[in-house]
Amino acid sequence: MRLMNKVALVTGASRGIGRSIAERFAAEGSHVAVNYLPQGENEIEARAVANQLKTAGMIVGGDVSLRGDVERMVSEVVQKFGRLDIAVCNAGIEIKKPFLEVTDEEWNSVLSVNLYGSFCVAQAVARQMVRQGGSGKLIFISSVHEDIPFPGYTAYCASKGGVRMLMRNLAMELAPHKINVNNIAPGAIATPINSAVLSDPEAKAGAISEIPWGRFGRPEEVAAVAVFLSSDEAEYVTGSTYYVDGGLTQQVTLY
Ligand code: NAD
Repeated sequence: MRLMNKVALVTGASRGIGRSIAERFAAEGSHVAVNYLPQGENEIEARAVANQLKTAGMIVGGDVSLRGDVERMVSEVVQKFGRLDIAVCNAGIEIKKPFLEVTDEEWNSVLSVNLYGSFCVAQAVARQMVRQGGSGKLIFISSVHEDIPFPGYTAYCASKGGVRMLMRNLAMELAPHKINVNNIAPGAIATPINSAVLSDPEAKAGAISEIPWGRFGRPEEVAAVAVFLSSDEAEYVTGSTYYVDGGLTQQVTLY
């Protein structure tokens, strides 16, 4: 087991990539706080995830774009497990809209979850790690669109590009505290965020035709990299983006 007795917080972990990371971390011996956005069925889903983890987990409700929620989440985790060793800033949203039609509200909602939420969680967790005496792992789930433009998703691309620079700066600022900071940039992964494409055979085939590996990725394939980056083996790894994209970023023409 590579994460024995570590304590991890995974945001947006009631489903999709976050859920897979929570499950994999627990299988590697880590205690996991499963964050969910208190809305709709998320709490029920988060509880189901936490109940079947191989270690004692917990659920923590909270919106990553609200400072008060984030501070409370971190203190709930520390209250239960005594410390925090790993945080995965995974919660994210996207809105598809031509740039000329995007409203302020849409722009702000995407930036506040994907970029401000990542900043806020990373800062609250890093402060806790420093209070503990340093050492820890921060992982952001960015996207291939931290680098590749995607017409119709300008706010999303801007937010993920911001996460790329957030990660690179934190890697430098937090290195003296021995906190490793890295990004995982997924390509097209089969999760609910892609349900519209996945349920439309023509759109799905079109997306697959752009992926050298010839298929969508699986959430577990992202989780495998998160395990490595959270492990002691990644001691000297900081400030990098790890693509999990079946070669998508190497395509000359996209979409
Ligand atoms: P998803 O929609 O299945 O999961 C996103 C999760 O984030 C959900 O559980 C949702 O409730 C949660 N969330 C949304 N807003 C939140 C908030 N304000 N506070 C707390 N939680 C919130 O999508 P996914 O594919 O699992 O995406 C996870 C991450 O991976 C996102 O950051 C996404 O941008 C990124 N990503 C996904 C893909 C892909 O193809 N699936 C590709 C690149 C990047």
